[in-house]
Amino acid sequence: MVPLRPDPLPFCRPDITEAEIDEVIDTLHSGWLTTGPKTKAFELKFADYVAARQAVAVNSCTGGLHIALAASGIGLGDEVIVPTLTFAATANVVVHQQATPVLVDVEPDTLNINPEAVERAITRRTQAIIPVHLYGHPCEMDALREIAALYHLRIIEDAAHAIGAFWRGRPIGSLGDATVFSFYATKNLVTAEGGMITTNDDDLAREMRKWVLHGISHDAWDRYSEKGSWYYEVVLPGFKYNLTDIQAALGLRQLARLDAMNARRAAIAARYNVGLRDLPELELPVTRPDVCHAWHLYAIRLNLDRLTIGRAEFIEALKREGICASVHFIPLHRHPYYRDRFGFQPSDFPVADAAYERLVSLPLYSCMSWDDVADVIEAVHRVVSRYRF
Ligand SMILES: *Cc1c(COP(=O)(O)O)cnc(C)c1O
Repeated sequence: MVPLRPDPLPFCRPDITEAEIDEVIDTLHSGWLTTGPKTKAFELKFADYVAARQAVAVNSCTGGLHIALAASGIGLGDEVIVPTLTFAATANVVVHQQATPVLVDVEPDTLNINPEAVERAITRRTQAIIPVHLYGHPCEMDALREIAALYHLRIIEDAAHAIGAFWRGRPIGSLGDATVFSFYATKNLVTAEGGMITTNDDDLAREMRKWVLHGISHDAWDRYSEKGSWYYEVVLPGFKYNLTDIQAALGLRQLARLDAMNARRAAIAARYNVGLRDLPELELPVTRPDVCHAWHLYAIRLNLDRLTIGRAEFIEALKREGICASVHFIPLHRHPYYRDRFGFQPSDFPVADAAYERLVSLPLYSCMSWDDVADVIEAVHRVVSRYRF
């Protein structure tokens, strides 16, 4: 069989231009490599972009989520509600704080955390909810905020997929107590590794800044500055989660192009919607009214009763056509650590568990050409027509 593309289309590629390269080189020449003026500038521009009062740069979304929990005082004996259909980092950080992750099921259409399941999972120990704006589609923030207000819970959003997304006209970034973004190499905005926490709570931001860098208090730094520039105070056992200026240089240039890159993603998603809509073997992603989707991922679900193969074979067949696809995500309750330590059962999460068997993420990134997009559509048509019942 001749593959559609002899030269395979990768699942993902970072969109880097000369502007980013020049800014990194400028940083290398500047003599200031780690957290410094470019990180500060990136924080200010980012806060502005998501309309939040504060932005705290970190070296990953994982680190940012960890800090948001630590600065919220969440620890031993506390419970934190997390959707099962997410990347492991969302729940791992809860365990890092010696708190207990309580997994809940997702909604059938968006696969985002189900607010009713959240409410059912609340106990006297519950301290926070970590909604994940899966694939870039915002969660039901009104319902979640009502629940959080009623039960005095924090909302710490995992917005790793959702930079540039809007919920009822408001950007993701200031709806919860803290919102954490990822700039990992595959995300909508990349700094190789990196992240940002945004918040409208100045006190929380001050606390988080201490946790980012060894627990060194900037207040003390200012207060005792007359003692000399060498003086500092460690006020808590902080982490080492700071972003470098080399990464911030990339981030500054990426942020300036983000709207254009996200528009390109949305245009590609729209083309997939049209190119695949006549295949009853597929369920295409939905966008609820009143949201702006960041289109980090384009995840289809296979209607397995109409196909003679399973999801794994479907991905293999796409690969034989020269198209690389993936799966987002293996639900946390299926991973040995979460399954064995907390005793989670697939039957506790019927929606996420059934969706998982059917999920296929197609390539979606801003530097794909229209020919690439047409190849993906053609390859999916070929595979479906070869294996339809
Ligand atoms: C990528 C990702 C993370 C982790 O981001 P890092 O910046 O790599 O730490 C967390 N949650 C979700 C949903 C992700 O996709």
